Amino acid sequence: MKVTEHIARAKDTLISFEVLPPLKGKGIEALYKHLDPLMEFKPAFINVTYHRSEHVFKKRPDGSFEKVIIRKRPGTEAICAAIMNRYNVDTVPHLICGGFSVQETEDALLTLSYLGIDNVLVLRGDPPKNETVFEPEPNGHRYALDLLRQVVNLNAGIYLEEELKDATKTSFCIGVAGYPEKHHEAPNMETDLHFLKKKVDEGADYIVTQMFFDNRKFYSFVEKCRSMGITVPIIPGLKPVTSKKQLTVLPKTFHIDIPPELSREILKCKTDEEVERIGEEWLLEQSLDLKKNGVPVLHYYTLGKPKVIARVMKRLL
Ligand code: FAD
Repeated sequence: MKVTEHIARAKDTLISFEVLPPLKGKGIEALYKHLDPLMEFKPAFINVTYHRSEHVFKKRPDGSFEKVIIRKRPGTEAICAAIMNRYNVDTVPHLICGGFSVQETEDALLTLSYLGIDNVLVLRGDPPKNETVFEPEPNGHRYALDLLRQVVNLNAGIYLEEELKDATKTSFCIGVAGYPEKHHEAPNMETDLHFLKKKVDEGADYIVTQMFFDNRKFYSFVEKCRSMGITVPIIPGLKPVTSKKQLTVLPKTFHIDIPPELSREILKCKTDEEVERIGEEWLLEQSLDLKKNGVPVLHYYTLGKPKVIARVMKRLL
């Protein structure tokens, strides 16, 4: 079922989780072990992230280096199908522009459609780890908006091969990303929101946000979106802080702020177990407040910390 159908039918705030495909070599059992304890909370859907290839340098016996391309977390489409099969739950694969040609994207979309997957979250992706500027593939998309247009076209039966007549239409519900604290490359919030609105005007069915730790930033973002005529559901993305290291890693990686009330408490902690308890309380307070304010879905980035999320769910639901 589509994310928007889940939202339309819901009587209360829904729950959703986000997971990463397993690292190559780890097998799918580790992912099941991660998800098993979360399924009792009946998520409406589960997102699975998408990962581009990376360049790594391997040392040859003669001491020189060889540049090789590896994809550490392949298989998003198959992981979605496996999750659906095991748990009978809807999935939302992420699709990115970075590292993929338009033809590869079309093939991925068709695979998803054959697997009975009704949703996609379309994203641009970040530059590879050792590069600072995003560059599209020679025959790839530059912005999430361009990828969105490809999905909208496929939903209308328009494939890349124009000579395909009466081609089957796909029927994807399309999500896009939004940034309550602004996307770091955007010159200002106004410009970022202008492009977000363009994604919605051209067919996005809902928005899911980057993580944030101050609900006021989310409410202000929603208010700005609504005032410029964005009417689609806006789903808050949430994550617990579980280690002291994250005080610097999260702002650096995701370009978000940790509120002083939270960072002060974390700095007082002597161990990461103490940080985890603070992070859990903070996430619960955020969730309760968002639920009280009627958000359609609480979307949790579970990455490596399913136990914390499970404890928050037990106290929230
Ligand atoms: P876009 O919407 O393309 O925006 C990128 C930048 O360009 C913004 O600054 C925007 O203001 C600007 N812009 C947009 N359109 C235009 C235009 N037409 N002309 C000029 N400027 C424009 N990354 C992954 O690699 N895999 C994932 O699975 C993944 N999942 C994510 C899930 C969520 C909920 C979020 C919030 C992010 C996720 N990301 C993921 C990270 C995401 O790929 C990065 O944040 C990326 O830098 C931007 O993606 P976007 O889709 O928001 O890009």
